[in-house]
Amino acid sequence: SMNTTTDDKTIVKDYFNATGFDRWRRIYGDGEVNKVQKDIRLGHQQTIDTVVAWLKADGNLANLSICDAGCGVGSLSIPLAQEGAKIFASDISEKMVTEAQERAQKALKDASNVTFAVQDLESLTGNYHTVICLDVLIHYPAEDAEKMIKHLASLSESRLILSFAPKTLCLTLLKKIGEFFPGPSKTTRAYQHKEKDIIQILEQNGFTIQRKDMTSTRFYYSRILEAVKE
Ligand code: SAM
Repeated sequence: SMNTTTDDKTIVKDYFNATGFDRWRRIYGDGEVNKVQKDIRLGHQQTIDTVVAWLKADGNLANLSICDAGCGVGSLSIPLAQEGAKIFASDISEKMVTEAQERAQKALKDASNVTFAVQDLESLTGNYHTVICLDVLIHYPAEDAEKMIKHLASLSESRLILSFAPKTLCLTLLKKIGEFFPGPSKTTRAYQHKEKDIIQILEQNGFTIQRKDMTSTRFYYSRILEAVKE
């Protein structure tokens, strides 16, 4: 029999190879979008900018090995590659990866330090100085988040950066309202996570929190945590 995890993952994969791809490619682009999508675009860009600024501030980006798990259209990988980091970027959606490759070819003078692969993050292997996984936990129920983070932690030599939609009373109410008035975009389930749960999982895997940030716009909320190996 099929378990929930497999079921959820297949739904997510199919979504990001079809209508989800069209929707998110536009949001993560620079063409015309509606007001809500524009707000999400700007919020997401803030999350990317925060992480890029953290890494640049450390002054050691050149040749740093970085794994971008669930890379989408390459929004993070491309600016990091531009700074000279050695990037391995992967996504469960083939469409997303193809788009990321095309964007990298256009944006980078030399795209040789970024490698893209169609791969679900549970099957990733290897060792990276830094593992980054932005806005992917939204697709993981609490039971699966723990295993997912544990796996990413095992690939990381010294740092793990995660972002997720935080589960707070206010946002839970907003989500409830959203469920009463479902829009056409509600095609996958969205899972929020309690910050204290995520921190506990990171700590159980030998990491401590170093930097934190929060992006919140009208329709986009993302808690960003940088955890380093003790
Ligand atoms: N991290 C990117 C960013 O911030 O620009 C993309 C975020 S997007 C909301 C979520 C991405 O996670 C999608 O591209 C989706 O295909 C990918 N994804 C979802 N589940 C995944 C899994 N199990 N393994 C790898 N990628 C996954």
